[in-house]
Amino acid sequence: LNNYVGFDTVTRQIERKFLKRGFNFNVILVGETGLGKSTMVNTIFSAHLIDSKGRKTATEPSRKTVDITPVTHLVEENNVKMRLTIVDTPGYADQVNNDQCWQPIINYITDQHRSYLEREASPSRDRLIPDTRVHCCLFFISPSGHSLKPLDIEVLRHLTQVVNVVPVIAKADSLTPEERAAFKRRIKDELAFHRINVYPYASDEDDAADKALLQTVKDLTPFSVVGSEQTFEVNGQTVRGRRHRWGIINVEDETHCDFIHLRDFLTRTHLHDLVETTAHMHYETFRYQCMSSPAN
Ligand code: GDP
Ligand code: MG
Repeated sequence: LNNYVGFDTVTRQIERKFLKRGFNFNVILVGETGLGKSTMVNTIFSAHLIDSKGRKTATEPSRKTVDITPVTHLVEENNVKMRLTIVDTPGYADQVNNDQCWQPIINYITDQHRSYLEREASPSRDRLIPDTRVHCCLFFISPSGHSLKPLDIEVLRHLTQVVNVVPVIAKADSLTPEERAAFKRRIKDELAFHRINVYPYASDEDDAADKALLQTVKDLTPFSVVGSEQTFEVNGQTVRGRRHRWGIINVEDETHCDFIHLRDFLTRTHLHDLVETTAHMHYETFRYQCMSSPAN
C-alpha cells in the first residue's frame, strides 16, 4: 500500500507560480553625497544600474541627485525574475539647516505603505497589488573612525520605525583594519545605547539555525564595505577592485572588507525575509496606526 498522496509537490507548484510572476525588491539608499551609494548598488548587482555620477542616461549632464527617484530594473538569474527598484535619496545633510532632512525619506516610505493600503482596501482590488513598499534601507555611515554624528542618530531613530535598516560603513578602504574594528564596536555601542533597532530582528519563531544566522549578521553589522565599478587582473583572475598606490583592494575578498558578506546577506540569506518583515511588521504597524487614527 502506497500512502503517498503528493502534497509535497506544493513547493514546486508555488515555485512555478513564483517563477512566472517574478517578485519585487525595493531598496532605498540613504547617506551623505559622495559616500559611494550609487557605486555600492552597482557593485552588489554587478550591472550598471545607476551611473555613479547620478546620470540616468549618458547624454544628461552630471548632476547630484536632488529628488527621491525610484528606478526599476528587471534582473533575471536562472529564470528567476526580480524587479529591483533602487530609490536614490537627495543629498542627505547637504543643507545648511538639516532639521527634518529625513522627513522626505520617511514620507516616501510611508507613501508606499499608504498606496498599498488604499489598493488593498479598495472594493475592486487587484488580485496582485504592485509592491512598491521599501524592503530595505541601506544607511551609509561616513568612515570618520570616530562615532556616529548626532544627525545620523536622529535619522536612524526615525528610519528604524518604518523600514528595515541595514547600516554600512562606507568607503572602508579609508580606515585601517584596526580602526575599522574599533569604529564598528563604537557604532554597535551607540546603536545599543540609543536603542536603535536595526535589521534583522530576533523572532519567537527562530530555531537554533535562525539564531546562529542572526548572531553572525549582528556581529558583522555595520558591514564595512568598499565599492568599485572597475575590474583588475590579480594573479590571472579578474577582480572587482580599487587600485591604491600600495596595491589593489579586491572588494570580493573577505580579508579586505565585508562586501561579500553584505551581498550574500542581501541576496542569498535575507532577501525573502526582508520582503516578509516589511509586510508583516513595518506595513502592519502603519496599517494599525491608520486604522486606529483615521486622520493619518
Ligand atoms: P554617492 O553620491 O553616495 O552616490 O557616491 P558615488 O557612488 O557617486 O561615489 C562618489 C565617489 O566615491 C566616486 O568617485 C567613487 O568612485 C568613489 N567611491 C565609491 N565607493 C568607494 C569606496 O568604497 N572607496 C573609495 N575610496 N571611494 C569610493
Ligand atoms: Mg549617487
